Amino acid sequence: MKKTILASVFTVTFILYSFAQQPKKLNTSEIFESVQKLNFLGSVLYVAAHPDDENTRLISYMSNHVKARTAYLSLTRGDGGQNLIGPEIRELLGVIRTQELLAARRIDGGEQMFTRANDFGYSKHPDETLAIWNKDEVLSDVVWAIRKFKPDVIINRFDHKSAGQTHGHHTSSALLSMEAFDMVNDKSVFSDQLKYVDTWQPKRLFFNTGWWFYGSQENFAKADKSGMLKIDIGVYYPLKGLSNNEVASLASSQHLCQGFGRLTQRGSQQEYIEFLKGEFPEDTSNVFSGIDTSWNRVKGGSEIGSILNNVEANFNFTNPSSHINGLMQAYQLISKLEDTHWKAIKTKEIKAIIQACVGLYIEASASTPTASTSSEVKLNLEVLNRSEIPIKLVSYNIPGMNEGISKATDLTANNKFNFEETVSLNNAKYTAPYWLENKGTLGMYKVDQRTLIGFPETPRDIVVDFNLLIGNTPISFTKAVVYRYSKPDKGELYRPFEIIPEASASITEKVIIFENDKQRDIQVKVKAGKENLEGYVQLAYPKDWSVYPEKQKITLTNKDEEQLLTFTVIPPKNQSEGYLTPMVHIGDKVYTKELVEITYSHIPYQTVLLPSESKIVRLDIKKKGENIAYIEGAGDVVPESLQQIGYNVVKVKPKDITSEFLTKFDAVVVGIRAYNIVEELKFKQQILFNFVENGGNMIVQYNTSRGIKVDQLAPFDLKLSRDRVTDENAEVRIINPDHELLNFPNKITQEDFNGWTQERGLYFPGEWSDKFTPLISINDKGETPKTGSLLVAKHGKGHYIYTGLSFFREFPAGVSGAYRLFANMLSIGKDNINMDKKLTD
Ligand SMILES: [Zn+2]
Repeated sequence: MKKTILASVFTVTFILYSFAQQPKKLNTSEIFESVQKLNFLGSVLYVAAHPDDENTRLISYMSNHVKARTAYLSLTRGDGGQNLIGPEIRELLGVIRTQELLAARRIDGGEQMFTRANDFGYSKHPDETLAIWNKDEVLSDVVWAIRKFKPDVIINRFDHKSAGQTHGHHTSSALLSMEAFDMVNDKSVFSDQLKYVDTWQPKRLFFNTGWWFYGSQENFAKADKSGMLKIDIGVYYPLKGLSNNEVASLASSQHLCQGFGRLTQRGSQQEYIEFLKGEFPEDTSNVFSGIDTSWNRVKGGSEIGSILNNVEANFNFTNPSSHINGLMQAYQLISKLEDTHWKAIKTKEIKAIIQACVGLYIEASASTPTASTSSEVKLNLEVLNRSEIPIKLVSYNIPGMNEGISKATDLTANNKFNFEETVSLNNAKYTAPYWLENKGTLGMYKVDQRTLIGFPETPRDIVVDFNLLIGNTPISFTKAVVYRYSKPDKGELYRPFEIIPEASASITEKVIIFENDKQRDIQVKVKAGKENLEGYVQLAYPKDWSVYPEKQKITLTNKDEEQLLTFTVIPPKNQSEGYLTPMVHIGDKVYTKELVEITYSHIPYQTVLLPSESKIVRLDIKKKGENIAYIEGAGDVVPESLQQIGYNVVKVKPKDITSEFLTKFDAVVVGIRAYNIVEELKFKQQILFNFVENGGNMIVQYNTSRGIKVDQLAPFDLKLSRDRVTDENAEVRIINPDHELLNFPNKITQEDFNGWTQERGLYFPGEWSDKFTPLISINDKGETPKTGSLLVAKHGKGHYIYTGLSFFREFPAGVSGAYRLFANMLSIGKDNINMDKKLTD
């Protein structure tokens, strides 16, 4: 009994998130397609690692052609990638990519699921991936997803046999899916889940192969395909006026932050799925071979099937409300099914069809886009029956907020009814992403509530149940509260209604570097989530630091108003680091989160709550040289970081690089991938090398080995390889401990390589002239030592340094050792007398 209740809780939440954006109103061809889907009882789960890994051609084919319930399980939310459309990175990028996946699924008809695994960046090997992820937890989440979704067929995007040949996350997704397939039906495995879900055995597991996995089209043409199913995914859907591959292209074009906007494709196109496990299909043209996908599949289903097959066979495209009797009869039978799994899925589907058939418009919209938990919100409820079918509004209620409010209103044809309600939001949960509520680890999100795991979004707390009678049959429709507004240049727009804290705060700079013990002023921005906010702000800080004043009062009259407060931070005498966190005290509550808003036109508006903190670093750093010319490449924050430690940095355009101009500078630093993307540097290399000969320092950061625009990267031979070290904790062996670069003006030790983030470095040179001195040796587990990550050569009176070490990642993370080493690179040769003295001290 208990299980039934929980199962229906899941269903409710499943319904909710799909309505979080613009309410979908089905036209008759969409209603007909929904009836076809209603009459198909089979499901496919597609498994991969990242947003954009999924093959939308196959997902769309399964969902729109086969009519199967289809979901994509993406193990991660893609936090580790780059953002081509805005400044959001890491967690915030994961939020955008989650929404882009949902946008893609709205187009291809699939559902979306996740695990708690975090996309921590590139990983060479599944062993490394599964060590950084908590393997047991991710496996448990894959098992959970399968037990919840109950797929008949699982399709892996990646080859489980490709360890070391592709991204470790990719191979891991396939390995975990393989492992889960064999254990989901075992009651002793992750038995804590069985409080909420049953065990389940999918019928078969495939791998979505293709020529890519064989190296070339020719190799694939020759490959043995006896274990493969071939599917033409280019089918045309007259009801949509689109080919399946066109739908798929529209779906994958939603991945805009990854630059996936692309042309649509059409025409016959083959996909191959290779059988891996389970029961080999007798009919190789059908992935569901041997599975009854009709209503006969469920006990009590045949009667439902005969009603609904009749609706499908005789569908009335001009007046779908003519099917309402049959549909209501089927709805009642479905609500009596013993099989809680199919009951939940089919109830949701048939309700959407019934609603569309009678043109029933139901909406609950809030008067403001956001509200805090301590406030009240005014709701406008709209109910409208656009058919001749007799419908009565019996009551509505807001679960957890109020009792049913009786209405007893006959919804006469095409007469709009509006009701206003004021709801107190006490104890409502924040709508911000649930997986970011607690601080996780590098590899995992931390989610305390088991039942939330896997959901793409935070289930909405504030919903309205509309309780109706259609004919004489009671039926309820649940709607999440939305916010509806218009913009003169956009028309009507919808936003999810968001519940936010009364107060939030942030410090503008996320990393604050103190290059000496001088105090600095920092600004804290407090934002009101409600009107008439009063309280005070304190900063939490490490114990060897000081901050004054101790507290400051805040008074904000309007909601969304901001107040800026200045605090003075005094660093300790010695090297030290920690975090500053603003704590906003309102009454007896303390708020420590920062509220981030994400607004793009292709995804719904998002509010995200992140721990509000800034890293503070007191560096023990000495430096020589002052003026730095920075040649920008693909974009990095190295210039700003060097400014933070007191350098005078000028960003120079390639056209300004002349011998005369460079005389003003002590060093030239070349930004990441500049030689891959800045064509004009081809004509400037000799000038830069002359600058070095005359006593300047030149520091070149990583470039990729392919597509170098210059003939010569360095004054001496230097050839890039694809060597990289992705383990940010990989042991660093100093191979030239007496070299000036490691001793002056800062003594570099192992400690300076502690606390690095994401990786050590990438695209290290693989061959170099003996004029270069390699300084350190590093490698990932199981690989040979790589000594090309930091190379220095004396050239004339100056120094040329090439480094693939990832300073561009370490600086924004406030890694002190990276700053000290870079200061040495800029200082080299600038004061040898001092150095000699220092060495003999
Ligand atoms: Zn991927």
